[in-house]
Amino acid sequence: MKRGCTQCGECLNVCPVFREFSREEYSPKAKRLLMEPHDKEFAIDKVIPWAQVKRLARLCAGCGRCKQACARKLSTADLLADVRANHPEWRQYLWEIWMNYMGPLWPTMGFAASLMPEALTPEALKSSIAPAKALVNKKNIQPWARIDPAPGAKVDTSSPLVVFGGCTATRVRKQWLQKTDELLRRWGYTMLDPTGFTCCGGTMHHAGQYRAMNSMRDRNVEYWKSMGRPRIVAFCASCYHSLEEYAEAYLEGEEAKTWKKSLTPLSALLVEPVARATSQAPASYGYHQPCHWNTGDKDMPFLKSIQPGLEKGKGLCCGMGGILKMSNPDLSMNMAYSCLGGFTPEITNIVTGCSGCSMQLQAAAPEGVSIYHWLDIVA
Ligand code: SF4
Ligand code: SF4
Repeated sequence: MKRGCTQCGECLNVCPVFREFSREEYSPKAKRLLMEPHDKEFAIDKVIPWAQVKRLARLCAGCGRCKQACARKLSTADLLADVRANHPEWRQYLWEIWMNYMGPLWPTMGFAASLMPEALTPEALKSSIAPAKALVNKKNIQPWARIDPAPGAKVDTSSPLVVFGGCTATRVRKQWLQKTDELLRRWGYTMLDPTGFTCCGGTMHHAGQYRAMNSMRDRNVEYWKSMGRPRIVAFCASCYHSLEEYAEAYLEGEEAKTWKKSLTPLSALLVEPVARATSQAPASYGYHQPCHWNTGDKDMPFLKSIQPGLEKGKGLCCGMGGILKMSNPDLSMNMAYSCLGGFTPEITNIVTGCSGCSMQLQAAAPEGVSIYHWLDIVA
């Protein structure tokens, strides 16, 4: 793990947790000050008491903004994951069970949560029940535009593609996988079977569950190799970011380079789109930019090209990342409210390009505001 914070303070300006509290002790650099003395030579529980680790664990959304802003590319989220993974008292099995074994039950749990009337929900549970309700699939979403490749569009169909759908799409938004497949075939690509992939392991990383993370990475890489190392398509910024990390901290040499080169955002493959608006198209809509696109957001130019009138919010973090949803649901939801507050009141339709962001913002959206993955709104 990289160390050596210079205390320059650049990360304060971008950290959404610091923004919520305006207290320096919640900033990335303050968290680093506490954690950096941790070294493999010392027993972690002697360097950082368990009570402090627990507190720190509730104060990071894993958004990665501090690393982007830091001249030394120090990631406080990664350092925190390392501390969790090495602390003898850290047990985050609940998260592993939720991600690994409860997947088939997500729709049922969403349905059960949706039966609970808002007025009867205890205040202390509201921040946990709202995200569970968002697991319920929206019905009858009417697309805003039909998109097709322009005649003669220069599409590189020389090699096949495989879609990496991620947990949310596989379990509760299967239509995103189907839509992706339809769109890519419309553009002339050859599609391979995506069913051998599992979760990207991103949240296992933040949870410090490295054994589970590595087993997911093993399975995904082996499946990719078994198909002849095809291009991998992702429509979720967080999955894409997590898959990119395989090349930095898991694969090596030529294999790492080939893996990284194979990753492609879906919107980058839908080249030269021609859009025909449907009668459902709103005059304007908002775009929530996921933190995990970093500076390489391909969705925004694509969306602007098919739907004029796109308005970006203030670009605040939605609070979904890492394991904040489980470790600090109230803070997670407050961040989502702040994020939605970054849009002007006229914006009542907001799209995004991340499965996690779309679920999180849907959980926090007030009456009359609709949240979509952009795949929902194209036909
Ligand atoms: S990952 Fe995000 S929330 Fe966590 S310390 Fe860095 S900027 Fe703050
Ligand atoms: S930007 Fe990097 S070097 Fe500067 S205070 Fe933050 S973590 Fe330390």
